[in-house]
Amino acid sequence: MSTYKTAPGVEAALAGYRLPEKLGFGLSTAPVMFSALYANGAWDEGELLPHGPVEIWPGARVLHYAELVFEGMKAYRVGNDTPSLFRPQANYQRLVRSATRLAMPAPSEALFMTALTAITRACTPFIPRVSGQSLYLRPFIFGTEPGYQIRPSLTARFLVIANPAEVYSAGPMRVSIERDDSRASPGGTGTAKTGGNYAASLRATQVASERGYTVALWLDAGTRQLIQELSGMNLFAVIDGTLHTPLLDGSILEGITRDSLLTLARARGLTVVERPMRIDELLEQIRSGVCTEVFACGTAAIVSPIELLGERDGTEYRPRDVDVVAASLREGLLAIQERRVEDPFGWVQPV
Ligand SMILES: *Cc1c(COP(=O)(O)O)cnc(C)c1O
Repeated sequence: MSTYKTAPGVEAALAGYRLPEKLGFGLSTAPVMFSALYANGAWDEGELLPHGPVEIWPGARVLHYAELVFEGMKAYRVGNDTPSLFRPQANYQRLVRSATRLAMPAPSEALFMTALTAITRACTPFIPRVSGQSLYLRPFIFGTEPGYQIRPSLTARFLVIANPAEVYSAGPMRVSIERDDSRASPGGTGTAKTGGNYAASLRATQVASERGYTVALWLDAGTRQLIQELSGMNLFAVIDGTLHTPLLDGSILEGITRDSLLTLARARGLTVVERPMRIDELLEQIRSGVCTEVFACGTAAIVSPIELLGERDGTEYRPRDVDVVAASLREGLLAIQERRVEDPFGWVQPV
């Protein structure tokens, strides 16, 4: 861990914090955050600060040109006194890939790990010890240089904020198949964890929600047939007893939960298939019963069951099973994350 500054007020902020009774997901914010600044081609050492508003120039490039990349990860403290992170290097590598796609500077791995370690250690007393609960960590980088010239920002800020949280759960999800808007295409920013992808998804989410659905399902921009992912989660289907998920085609986010589930399922002897998945074929397989279950995954929800997929015209497709394979994989992954079982994959990293 490299050295960093600690601002006045951090101790008081930590001492004054109480875990709320209802945690929710992102409802309560940890009392400290980590901040590092980039200027003249280098990052400073970073500082642990009380959580609070940050100053930004109104002309800052993030506010106009969406120069922003982020990560989402969790620190767990269920089975042990000391907290642990889950595959933090994978998050770091993805943050670098995201930043590279947007021509933004990324912190060194040492600075990234210092920030996560500093926050996690400071927040240890209130990392929940109930299974399913954790400290959600949100590292992000944004371009701070004011100006309208279209070129990468010369200054940036790296922040990590955190939230003691429950598993994000919307219950069995009702998925709205989005046939009009598109979110990402090969060569675009779909593989980067960046705010613009979310901005592009909001209208479909709003329409879906007005129609009683939980989330939108994205299809490829070219043929509108290939399944991509949900707005913030990757998709899986159980077809004929095997596990299928869309191939990483250069337009979907490489989910760390997705990758972990593939590894876990293979280790359990399940056949896993990464391939281009056509929506009309999947719907037919749900109708005929060949596809028995569909679910989604991501750090926040881990594994989230899907109850139905629906079209704009009201046609609905309900897989026979809801949360069967999904529940088993969720419990398997969560047990490793929470250190309730041996971690055969070297994923868990004590802090
Ligand atoms: C973060 C994210 C995911 C899930 O990735 P995890 O690493 O599993 O949390 C999936 N899709 C999108 C668009 C995302 O931003």
